[in-house]
Amino acid sequence: MIADRIDAYLESGGAELPEAILETATKICGASMLRNFGVQEDTIRKERMPRPSGSWACPRQMVFDSLSLEVEPYRARALRTFTHGDMTEAMGVLLFRQAAPEDIITPDIDGEQLELTVEFDPADYGVEGDPFTLEGHIDMTIRGKDGQEEPVDWKSSSRYGFQNAKAGAGDPTHDWWTKEAGGYIAQLRWYMLMLRASGRSEANRGYLAFVCKDTGHTCEVMVPADEEAEKTLIKKAAYVFQQIPDAQEKRAVILEGTGTTHDPYRRMPRDPSKIKAGAAKVLEKFAKDGEQFEGDETTDARISAWVRQHVPRARFTENLKVEKAGATMRPDGTKGPCHELSTKAHLEGFRCSYCAHTARCWPGFQVVALSSGPVWRTNKP
Ligand code: SF4
Repeated sequence: MIADRIDAYLESGGAELPEAILETATKICGASMLRNFGVQEDTIRKERMPRPSGSWACPRQMVFDSLSLEVEPYRARALRTFTHGDMTEAMGVLLFRQAAPEDIITPDIDGEQLELTVEFDPADYGVEGDPFTLEGHIDMTIRGKDGQEEPVDWKSSSRYGFQNAKAGAGDPTHDWWTKEAGGYIAQLRWYMLMLRASGRSEANRGYLAFVCKDTGHTCEVMVPADEEAEKTLIKKAAYVFQQIPDAQEKRAVILEGTGTTHDPYRRMPRDPSKIKAGAAKVLEKFAKDGEQFEGDETTDARISAWVRQHVPRARFTENLKVEKAGATMRPDGTKGPCHELSTKAHLEGFRCSYCAHTARCWPGFQVVALSSGPVWRTNKP
């Protein structure tokens, strides 16, 4: 559908590449390099409200993300990986436009992606909870077999990730589907839900298109719509959108207690109407002051303790335990016995190792990259 058509195009000798299409692709790559390799955006404190590409595997992570807590700045590896991802997307869109110009719907030739803002009412899905709003930008939408608009998300992956996705594409019972239920697949399901809820399309399926960074291979996984899985996502969102205002109110109260008179947020939450009355009053007072408040360790520690108490860790962490003693590569680089958490036995557990709040949930643990995939090890039991 996607990979085959691109390969056929490239192997048939290609076609004239209009300047406008080339310019858009180079603009996307340039902007990414500017963002990641130039003056970097301040990532230490950033409020991130739930979005389709967020961490639907772990509600706690989403609540932490919404509170502009201090996290580690991006490492060199992450900055390079972000650019790889943007370049893969630019290349994927360009090639599909060349291979199947009649079937690409968005982005337009200038690279303008489809941006959707959709209000969901959980009641429409048989779920309890208040309405919530999600915003999303979709990498690419195409005309599917039945003429409906379908979303595509481009992914740049390692050989390990690519092989898993490819195996998942051919086997709906493969572990990949469990591992990605709260990750890539959730993101695509949101896009399908958004296309449907906005009346653009029936969007009964979507695609994750992968490019392997090591070998240059491409493959895609077709994700069919699934009512139960969609209902689970709506339930998660309803829960998260109920926890966030509670946590923000708590934070405002903590700040007020410390005598802080500054705006505790870098940016106001996207939907201020969702802020509870108590927090709204405090925020209003801070807003008048007009200054930015950077937060401090004490505030972060207190609000983190509240989140830990009120928002459980994701279910996938329940069985994570130190189960392999005696490995010799310690996270701090020294040699000697250390302990390892099993994330292979508990499929979504690997998500914690990519989370910016690991230290808040698992003090003392760090990630060690091994050729078989990232694992967690610690010098302490
Ligand atoms: S460390 Fe794991 S459990 Fe904690 S917030 Fe992150 S993903 Fe969730």
